[in-house]
Amino acid sequence: MRGFRHWLLLVMLASLGFASGCAFNQSDIGGFNIISIDQEVELGNKFAGEVEKQSKVVSDPEVQSYVDGIGRRLLTGARAVEFAYTFKVVKDDSVNAFAIPGGHVYVNSGLIKAAASETELAAVMAHEINHAVARHGTRQLTQQYGYSLIVQLLLGQDPNLLAQLATSLFGKAGFMAYSRGMENQADFLGAETMYKAGYNPEGMLTFFSKLDAMQKQSPSKLAQFFSSHPLTGERVRQVREEIAQLPPKSFKADDSASFQRIRARVERLP
Ligand code: ZN
Repeated sequence: MRGFRHWLLLVMLASLGFASGCAFNQSDIGGFNIISIDQEVELGNKFAGEVEKQSKVVSDPEVQSYVDGIGRRLLTGARAVEFAYTFKVVKDDSVNAFAIPGGHVYVNSGLIKAAASETELAAVMAHEINHAVARHGTRQLTQQYGYSLIVQLLLGQDPNLLAQLATSLFGKAGFMAYSRGMENQADFLGAETMYKAGYNPEGMLTFFSKLDAMQKQSPSKLAQFFSSHPLTGERVRQVREEIAQLPPKSFKADDSASFQRIRARVERLP
């Protein structure tokens, strides 16, 4: 009995530490991951294939190259670029973006419509890029489903399993539930990535407050975003404190004309 209580206490302490984010060093992107980089690339490509079968990827070359350009610029401020990143726009009116393992980042058309500027769009993309940089996807999947399932997916013996998992994790109604520590880390690294890439990280805060206001008006459009990225006062406070500590820097003003033109194209997408 004593042994059991001791064990229970350890579990409680561990989960407390995890929930409060204490166990997470935000600067550390090299946490333990049983999945190798090569395995993650392979798994990511499989998931990307499924996601692109299930969702409508926007083919408008101007919209596509605009979003790709933002992604490439952000990568110049990332701590590590271990994958061949891809950035694609998905035709979906809910305000959301997501990253799948191996550096595939998807931006919903609804997010572009909701953003007021390139910097606000870059803020959400910077957050997603850093889920990939810190390899949160494979860490979360291993924790949630176990290593053997990942191996099963890699072996490709059960295509239904891959399709089902892709739907529940990255599909229209699905979402990848990262831990709170991972969300905080993606914010922390995201603001840093923006700053280093020359985007004003304040854009993350303005977009957070816009999302907060939008949630009160049209919660259904944001359901997925808030399921996968619960926006807490703690998250906002953390980013604000981080920005306050960054050395002053003058950021290049956004090219607002380009952003408006792209947003208008997105509004007219078939
Ligand atoms: Zn996130």
